[in-house]
Formats: sequence, structure tokens, C-alpha cells
Amino acid sequence: MSDRKRILTGDRPTGKMHLGHYVGSLQNRVRLQDEYDCYFLVADLHMLTTRPQKEHIDALRVNIREMVLDYLAVGIDPERSTIYLQSAVHAVYEINLFFEMLVTLPRLTRLPSIKDMARAAGIDEESVPFGLIGYPVLQAADILMPRSALVPVGQDNKAHVEITREIARRFNAYYGEVFPVPEAMIGDVPTLIGTDGQAKMSKSLDNCIFLSDDPRVVEKTVRGMFTDPNRTRADIPGRVEGNPVFIYHDAFNPNTDEVDDLKERYLKGAVGDVEVKTKLAAALNAFLDPIRQRRADYDSRPGYVEQVIYEGTLRTQEIANDTVSEMKKAMGLTGVWNRISRKARDRMRKAEAAG
Ligand code: ATP
Ligand code: MG
Repeated sequence: MSDRKRILTGDRPTGKMHLGHYVGSLQNRVRLQDEYDCYFLVADLHMLTTRPQKEHIDALRVNIREMVLDYLAVGIDPERSTIYLQSAVHAVYEINLFFEMLVTLPRLTRLPSIKDMARAAGIDEESVPFGLIGYPVLQAADILMPRSALVPVGQDNKAHVEITREIARRFNAYYGEVFPVPEAMIGDVPTLIGTDGQAKMSKSLDNCIFLSDDPRVVEKTVRGMFTDPNRTRADIPGRVEGNPVFIYHDAFNPNTDEVDDLKERYLKGAVGDVEVKTKLAAALNAFLDPIRQRRADYDSRPGYVEQVIYEGTLRTQEIANDTVSEMKKAMGLTGVWNRISRKARDRMRKAEAAG
């Protein structure tokens, strides 16, 4: 187990997970569970970067449970993988602080992703918290804490993994080889488009299909999906490329003959939106059915989700403590403290002996 390379990735516990999370990251996690020793974090500290208010912390009880149920439902297996709570792994706070010294402020403030997150959270430029600027640094602390080699994330997160790589290289250059330089692994769909045609499916944009949505809700959402706006009648030739319904067909409908046939007729103006959407809703529901079933099963076991997080967090705490010790040793900080303690103890012993 321990000679396998490690994976770390995770999500902010802000509620239920959607199809974008699945194709961007969850799918790769499930695939790689045997090949890698996997760590999946519930990033509650990262949530605080845009939502520090008490009401959001109070909502964690429900949101963490929903999110971890989604993890289990898609097939993340706690027998093989570790799920843990970020805020309970205190060594990460220390790693974060050391890493803060290894990256420049302009490097962080130039990142478009930070501006995007601020905008999505309704934070204007003058009100961006220091902690939000530090988001990618804390992420580097998470990723390097178990010395991960691979980070399965959506495209919007790639720039953050790049910061992690720079920090790992700089730490190693200053203090000796402690960390691997991890690779980002982008999902099958790097950024899943929203049901409304906006570039990204995102809770804050209200354009999601959630993994736990009821079949009726999926049908209704798909009926309302954005398609080719120029196609006002079924006999007008339509655009397939960039069209959300076909992007979703490609991502979630395993019947490629059906998809090819729909595309061909759509391009010619020989199929109505209703047929395209009905078949999409059916494909999505077939994909989601086993996920919903497993979710309901895990949901019905009292205390199970909590036990998974608890055991995973205890395991992670040990690994994180080891890494911090290694870091401090490499940095020479352990030596500084040891010398001070030795001298102090010597003096105290002598004073005691002198009576
Ligand atoms: P939301 O805005 O819906 O809460 P998010 O971007 O805040 O989503 P995070 O918790 O920041 O979600 O990210 C979880 C993971 O899911 C990241 O790896 C991110 O890249 C990925 N992800 C999120 N949305 C999408 C999407 N629409 N397409 C592909 N990957 C996505
Ligand atoms: Mg989120």
C-alpha cells in the first residue's frame, strides 16, 4: 500500500455535487483508486476563504454529509481510499505557513481564478480577503502534505496545481528534496458547460444537474436546456458543436450510434429538440440511477459517513505530522528548537543540583 504513489484532491463542502464535478474530477478519482493511494479532502478551510461567516460554518454539518454521500455514491471506496476533514489536520496549517514564504504576492494576485471565485461569491476587488489570495498556497499544503504525485482536477484548477509545482520546486531547492513535483490530471471534460450555455456548470450560476437529482427533476432541467438559439423550428439546420445538449450526449450517453444519428439529423434540420432532449434525459437518468441507489443505501446507515471521515482523518493526521517533521528537519528548525531546549534543560539541571 505505502509504495504506491499518492493522489490528493478534494472539494469545498458547499453542498451537493453536480455533473461538472463528476467529469472534471470524480470520475478520475474512482478510476485510479487501485493504482494510487488516494486522499480526498473535504476542504472546509478553503470554504472559509469566501464564506467565513458563522452561518456557512453551521451549514457544514449538512453540506459535508451531502458531499461525502456523493463521493461514496459515485464509487469512492473508503476501504481503498481516504476521505478526511481538512480543518482537523492541524499540521496543514503549519505547512501552509512555510509555503507562504515561497511564493510572491504578484504571482497569486495575477491568477484569474481568484478573481473568478471572488466574483462568484459577490466579493468586490477591494474586499478580497488575504486568505482568498492564499487559496492556492493552502491548496499546495494539502497536495504536498501526503507528498502526492497526481492531482485530478477540472481545468479551472490547473493554474493552482502549477503554483503547487513551483512551491515544491522552491522548497526542494532551498532545503533539499522533500517533495515530489505533482502533475495535474484534467478530467474527460475539462470544463463542463452549464445547462444554460454558460461556460461552466456551477452552483453559484444555478445551471447544474446534481448527481442526486430526482429523475423528474433531470427531465425538467433537460427540457429547459439551452440549445442552438438560431434554430427556432425543427426543420432549420442546427449547430452541434458547442451545443450543450450534444456536449452532454457525448459525455453521458454511451449509445454512440444514437448520438451520431441525432447529430446528423440535427445538422440537416431533421429532428426536433424534444427528441434530442428526451433521449438525453433518458441517458442521464440511466447514468444517475445506480449513483442515486448507492447514495440512498449509504444515507440509510446511521453514523456511517461520520465514521468514514473520522477514520480517514485520523490516518491523515499521522501522515501530515510526519511531513511537518520532515520539513522542519530539512529547514533546520528542529535543530534550532533542540539547541534551545538542550541549553535550557542543562541550566535548569545545574541550578537544581546547586540546590
Ligand atoms: P461550484 O461552483 O458548483 O461550487 P466549484 O468550482 O466551487 O463548483 P470546487 O469545490 O471548487 O467546485 O471544485 C471541485 C472540483 O470540481 C475541482 O477540481 C474543479 O475543477 C471541478 N469542477 C467544478 N466545476 C466543474 C465543471 N463545470 N466542469 C469540470 N470540472 C469542474
Ligand atoms: Mg464548490
